[in-house]
Amino acid sequence: MFSMTLPQGVQTILSVLRQGGKRGVLVGGCVRDACMGLPAHDYDIATDATPAETLELFRDFRVLETGIKHGTVTILIDHEPFEVTTFRIDGDYRDHRRPDRVTFTTRLADDLARRDFTVNAMAFDGQMLIDPFGGQQDAQAHILRCVGDPDVRFNEDGLRILRALRFAAVLDFVIEPQTSDAIHRCRNLLEQIAVERLFAELRKLLGGQNAYAVLRGYADVMRVFLPELSDDGIEAIRHTPADGLLRLALLTEGSDAESALRRLRADKKTIRAVVQLHTLTLTDARHLLAEAGIQQAHRFADYAAVCDRIDADRQARLHVELDVLEQDKPCLSLRDLAVNGRDLQSLGLTGQEIGQALERLLEEVLSGRLPNERAALLDAAKHSFLQ
Ligand code: ATP
Ligand code: MG
Repeated sequence: MFSMTLPQGVQTILSVLRQGGKRGVLVGGCVRDACMGLPAHDYDIATDATPAETLELFRDFRVLETGIKHGTVTILIDHEPFEVTTFRIDGDYRDHRRPDRVTFTTRLADDLARRDFTVNAMAFDGQMLIDPFGGQQDAQAHILRCVGDPDVRFNEDGLRILRALRFAAVLDFVIEPQTSDAIHRCRNLLEQIAVERLFAELRKLLGGQNAYAVLRGYADVMRVFLPELSDDGIEAIRHTPADGLLRLALLTEGSDAESALRRLRADKKTIRAVVQLHTLTLTDARHLLAEAGIQQAHRFADYAAVCDRIDADRQARLHVELDVLEQDKPCLSLRDLAVNGRDLQSLGLTGQEIGQALERLLEEVLSGRLPNERAALLDAAKHSFLQ
């Protein structure tokens, strides 16, 4: 027996639809995750109401109409957004990516049939699981299988190839043999997909528990858009924590990571973080923390160990030192320093001298030669800078 606890907001939406004589069901990831015993992270609702009918039924609620062209009305309940999408049939997929047009339908069966994988093609109406393609059984057995003929489905939308690999990496699915063969066969379709969409999937894939096995098994597919991917790079992530950024840095180690990531239209923050991991040098924990911040400093400890820049012992100690330092609310920048420019000005320093003196005091504190205490810093300033 399938069951799923629904948050109050979802229950409200389903009952408003029902009272309006319409059908409302949960679809997609939340039903799949429930079958696998995992908590849901968002709830997608599908309905036979047209977008106009949905707007009318929810006229007393706050709604957002931004997705309405694709049939989606977002309903806010206690400030939480829930997407309600009209059942759809997709039109032709001439560019292997986006259907030329969407057609609304009142048949749930048609809406489920257009979905990518059996585990993603189930619906729950609050009471019953609607599962025309055996998704529940596949979810419980961790099998990822296309709905219908895999070659046809990948030709309709090449992004599904990478979605399959992402689900396999994150949710530990084994890809069913016919779907798997089609992924290898159809891999060049990825060339036609917008790179930012590929990159978004890649990031999620790399954060998955099972990323190593997926990269090993599908390196030919990944290399269609990431020719930089080497066998050594794949081996490097074998025993790492499931951290997308760390793995991205390891996979692009030794190549021109910045160009590769730009080509994939990675966001600036990601590029900066990867380049920082490639270029940071380790002096001591305090400097590392000051330069990189706590999360990135821990990541660097793992990165440097995989790249053999530090040994396992140093890596373990570094993690501990970083945590201890972080708990002390350490002084890491001029902002945290117990003296400021005005203090130095009142000692008689002027102009550029002030900035230079502050930098030197910070360096003394970072290296542990001076405590971050006002009296000690003023004293040092008097003796060092005011001869
Ligand atoms: P996640 O846990 O990442 O949110 P999800 O399965 O909910 O996973 P979404 O991208 O949110 O993924 O899509 C919601 C649902 O829409 C999917 O479960 C699937 O049924 C359908 N879907 C999404 N993208 C595609 C696609 N490219 N082709 C076919 N169906 C798709
Ligand atoms: Mg989702």
